[in-house]
Amino acid sequence: MEQEVFNNLLTLFRENKLAHAYLFETKDVEKCYKELIQFIKKLLCSMEYEENCSKCDICHQIDEGTIPSIITIEPDGKSIKTDAINNLKKAFSLMPVYTPYNIYIIKYPEKMNDTSFNKMLKFLEEPEDNILGFYITRNKDSVANTIVSRCELIKMFDEQKRLQGSLSNEEFTLCQNIANEYYEKLENGKENLTWYNLNVVLKQLTTQEQIVCLLNLIYNTYEFDFRKSKDFNIIKKLKIIEKYLSELNYNMNLGLLLDSFVIEMGEANGL
Ligand SMILES: [Zn+2]
Repeated sequence: MEQEVFNNLLTLFRENKLAHAYLFETKDVEKCYKELIQFIKKLLCSMEYEENCSKCDICHQIDEGTIPSIITIEPDGKSIKTDAINNLKKAFSLMPVYTPYNIYIIKYPEKMNDTSFNKMLKFLEEPEDNILGFYITRNKDSVANTIVSRCELIKMFDEQKRLQGSLSNEEFTLCQNIANEYYEKLENGKENLTWYNLNVVLKQLTTQEQIVCLLNLIYNTYEFDFRKSKDFNIIKKLKIIEKYLSELNYNMNLGLLLDSFVIEMGEANGL
């Protein structure tokens, strides 16, 4: 998926048709960032680009992060600080020296505070031909609309494919059905969910991969809720699901794992 996207962008670049700014929506910001850097090396390499060029000075400096015409901005602590945006604007008020473009990359643009955001918006509103911008987010809905509308949006994933993994269509449908029911029960909070885990969920879903899929589906439902309501209690629940998803990487007893999961989710609901 990503490779396809970057190949298309490379074609646009060669035809001189790149947009001024792109917003990537991806499930993995760091991975996307790494691939974006590889793409930028392809754009700027002073030799014929080979995978992992380290021969030329430009690629070397890109790898080291020392080239002045490429600036990456990411949250420092909880937010993207205004200083970072000020420095960017200052650096890019000059023409690029070693490269045809000044390029900035903003990871997690939703973390800009209001001042940063307003400064960045001005920057986007007056695009210059020699400046390219890339924004990378996990969720475009959390990025201010005024930014989204000024960028070309590129989705880096096929959501169903990602969730389904190597499960068959039947297995996936089963996971979806149980996920819907599970979510209802978690929110309802009236039932004994350890009973439900044992007698319903684990009777039908027996592999680790199925449970991963189940939790991912529940996660997406809560994420959707959060986009609508911005209720911060939902963040707590998302964090819990993330924790259990990462525990599933180890060989865990699925029954114990789900039981402890429903207890924590209940606590998050204040039960
Ligand atoms: Zn190179």
